[in-house]
This record gives sequence, structure tokens and C-alpha cells, in this order.
Amino acid sequence: MADPFDLAFAAAREAAALGEVPVGAVVVRDRAVLGVAGNRPRALHDPTAHAEILAIREACARLGDERLTDCDLYVTLEPCPMCAGAISFARIRRLYYAASDPKGGGVEHGPRVFNQPTCHHAPEVYSGFREREAAGLLREFFAQRRG
Ligand SMILES: [Zn+2]
Repeated sequence: MADPFDLAFAAAREAAALGEVPVGAVVVRDRAVLGVAGNRPRALHDPTAHAEILAIREACARLGDERLTDCDLYVTLEPCPMCAGAISFARIRRLYYAASDPKGGGVEHGPRVFNQPTCHHAPEVYSGFREREAAGLLREFFAQRRG
């Protein structure tokens, strides 16, 4: 299997090429890729079409299950509060993300969704992978949009 982060970053770059904020997500179980997606809120006219949500939907559809037990999620950016909620509902086992997001993240910033008593399933969280690459991708994207 390819490095899941390679797939996530490819999906993020694809999103950027479409004018979407460059974030990519991949769901993996037993070294099999069950879902890959980039951000698509603009293309789908759907504010909930974040990469994580789309990758989770694809994996759930593939498994015919609303829970992704024993599945791991790889994301290029710290998930927002909405996606953190979805990750919890999906019962994702481990969450790996690249850059943290002090402005919009909901895992180690903002509401810290997994640390709340109302959160009934928290994944194991690992962060800090390929941070410079992820941060660079976002910086480049927003610089181009301003330009
Ligand atoms: Zn999100």
C-alpha cells in the first residue's frame, strides 16, 4: 500500500487545483484504502463537504456500515470541530494529521472535541507528520488567492 499521507497530500493538491482549500483525507483499514477525498465544499455547494467527511462517507458506503471500527484516518490538517464530531461518531480508531490548525482546528484547538465529557468515542491522535509540506500547501494556496 502507498503511504496514506502520500494519497492524502495528492487529494489536497487536487482540491487546490479546483480552487478548494487544500485538505485531503484517507481512510485505511488493514492496509487497504477504503476512502480518499479532498475538500469539495465549493464544487458540491455543501459546507459539510470537508475531505474527512467525504472520505468517511466513501468508506462507510464501501463497508455498508455507519461505523468504521478498526479504521484509521489520515488528514493533511487538524480536523475542524464538525469533522472531529464525525470522526467520533464513525468510531475511527486512530487519527493521524499533518499540520495543526490554531484558527479552525477542533482537536488540539478550539472546542477540543475529543476531550469533552459529551464525546463518547475518542480516537488515538497522532500529529506532526509532514507539517512543513502541509503548511506550505495552505500558504501557497492562500497567497495565490490573494494575488
Ligand atoms: Zn472539517
